Amino acid sequence: MRIGVLAIQGDVREHLRHTERAGAEAVEVRLPRDLENTQGLIMPGGESTTIGMLMAEYGLIDALRERTRDGRYPIYGTCAGLILLAKDVVGKSPARLGYVDIEASRNAYGRQVASFEVGLDIPALGGEPFPAVFIRAPKIGRMGPGVTPLASYQGDVVMAEQGPYLVSAFHPEMSADIRIHQYFLKKVEQWSTVHGVS
Ligand code: GLN
Repeated sequence: MRIGVLAIQGDVREHLRHTERAGAEAVEVRLPRDLENTQGLIMPGGESTTIGMLMAEYGLIDALRERTRDGRYPIYGTCAGLILLAKDVVGKSPARLGYVDIEASRNAYGRQVASFEVGLDIPALGGEPFPAVFIRAPKIGRMGPGVTPLASYQGDVVMAEQGPYLVSAFHPEMSADIRIHQYFLKKVEQWSTVHGVS
């Protein structure tokens, strides 16, 4: 299995490493041709306005629309990646994919100095709480009926999925815990076999 990691900004190397430790090949994606032979994509955190703008400029938004047309190409968006996957955005609204029926409020957890780490209970992962790092994270407000919440923090959903798409407001690559990457790889496996991708 080969997974792309969007390599415009953010913890690209950490995502590549976590993905490989979780058992897949991981490749950097900057241009549309880098998506070839990948079965899924991870979009790291960063500044969503910049990432969205460069994705549009490099032709990646169009290429991903094409690649996801059959609804069988999983994408995991973390933090800024969540914003790029959100249907609606509160705050400056970046160019984005908008596949997940949520409203994301940018920077709703406060400034850089207000970044924090919590042990999150994520029932879908089982076991120990997950060490989740929030950095100027977005909040998920409205959530459509097709969206399944996977974890909450202080009453707000901070991780969710809809069909092949997974989002988290926090960074899962900043600790040694690879369970979310494993969860995403399982999702990729499921969407490409159960749903019959070639
Ligand atoms: N604050 C950033 C944004 O709005 C997201 C922060 C992050 O990805 N760590 O795009």
